[in-house]
Amino acid sequence: MPGVGRRRARVDRQIATRKRLLLKAKGKFSALFRFGIRQKMIVVLLSVLVMALGANGFMTLRQQEQDVLREIKQRGEDISRFSAQSIAFRVVAYDYHGIQLLLDDIIRSKDILYARVSSRKGNTMAEAGTQPVNPEGWVLFDREIVFDDEVVGQLKIGLDTARIANQMRDQQFAMIMREGIMIFLIAIGEFLALSYLIVRPVSIISKSMTDTVDEFGRIQANRIPIDSQDEFGMLATQFNTMRAQLNDIHARLQSKIELADVKLRETNSQLMEQSDELKRMNDELKRLAITDPLTGLYNRRQFERLMETEVALSVRHGEDTSILIVDVDHFKNINDQFGHKAGDTVLRRLAKILTENLRTTDIVCRIGGEEFVAICRRAKADDALMVGDKLRRMVQEHSFSFNADRIPVTVSVGAATIPNALGVQTPEEFFQCADIALYHSKETGRNTVTHYSRIASEVGRPGKNRVSSGEAS
Ligand code: GH3
Ligand code: MG
Ligand code: MG
Repeated sequence: MPGVGRRRARVDRQIATRKRLLLKAKGKFSALFRFGIRQKMIVVLLSVLVMALGANGFMTLRQQEQDVLREIKQRGEDISRFSAQSIAFRVVAYDYHGIQLLLDDIIRSKDILYARVSSRKGNTMAEAGTQPVNPEGWVLFDREIVFDDEVVGQLKIGLDTARIANQMRDQQFAMIMREGIMIFLIAIGEFLALSYLIVRPVSIISKSMTDTVDEFGRIQANRIPIDSQDEFGMLATQFNTMRAQLNDIHARLQSKIELADVKLRETNSQLMEQSDELKRMNDELKRLAITDPLTGLYNRRQFERLMETEVALSVRHGEDTSILIVDVDHFKNINDQFGHKAGDTVLRRLAKILTENLRTTDIVCRIGGEEFVAICRRAKADDALMVGDKLRRMVQEHSFSFNADRIPVTVSVGAATIPNALGVQTPEEFFQCADIALYHSKETGRNTVTHYSRIASEVGRPGKNRVSSGEAS
């Protein structure tokens, strides 16, 4: 039912409004009694006021009490002196009736409740009022009645101080009430003055300073709206100036940071480019360090490294590895006859023939001037011989030419395989075996292939009888 729903929503709204108002009132109430500056100042002020007014009241009352007592005493003495004088004649004349009338007259005076005249011998001649049973609150005045310089009797007057004491108590109460009202009024006045003069500007300043910094670090606080000439006004002015200065500095710093950031990015991208370039150059250097510039094959240094690895692998796994040293026959003559450039062309072409006619798993290196080595993995002695002979034939059959000249080229090959019967295990010895075989090919007429295993029985284990020719490029 839509009507019921609407009513319910209205009731809910009313409850929410009431709760809000209640919370607001609660907040204001608790703010009033929060122990803030106002409350502290009032506690201090009230303590001082209570102490000062209390001390003042106490001293005033004491003074009053002393004054009243002196007054009473004075009055009693005055009355008793006058009465004694006026009664003296009647005492001498034994005028009891006259004395009685006079005493009756005396006790009609305010606060005098008792009067008695006695003879010189102490006999009561007349008495008015009642003698106090409990002399507290009474003051008794005794005075001699003198006639012609002779004491003729004694006058006793009793003065009641209760009325005066009550009067004093009333005065005290009135004074305390007055002081209480005064303290209350001063407290209210002070509370209002503090609220207006101190708490209001402080809360304006504090409100203006909340949530002051935005996401960019700028001070967002509003200008503090206090223009008074007092300390708060000065504080507000200083804050407003400081805020403006800080924002200005912040803006300048921000632009510097942005500039620095742009520069940093630029430098960074330059550095990245340089780093890429360096990496490229480094890779190129690494490549150059292991490459022969004339043929693009691995150079002697890389060959030696490869030999270390290949020999170690072969020894560990017992797999056959063969090497073939390919040396151009009478290369010196080629240079001499056709020129050094022609020699270079022959070397480049030869490198191509070798790489094109070997397996991709085989590695070809140029280890000296006209000396190449092929490392053939998983190649037994027969395979090595076969490959060597194939290469020899390819070279012989290839038509080398430079300019218009045809250059006849042959190569001699020395091969070796590990593991071999002599138990060769080091790269140096392995190379020497192939070198010995090459030497044998050269000795036996060139353009031929020799495998070390075929001549091992003649030459024995490799020694230092021949060192491989040529220099690493
Ligand atoms: P053998 O049949 O006994 O090997 O005789 P060979 O003339 O080939 O051997 P030798 O060691 O006497 O001569 C090698 C020559 O190779 C000497 C050198 O001038 C030449 N040479 C070395 N490096 C290069 C090069 O990079 N380019 C050219 N064109 N010639 C080179
Ligand atoms: Mg040669
Ligand atoms: Mg040579």
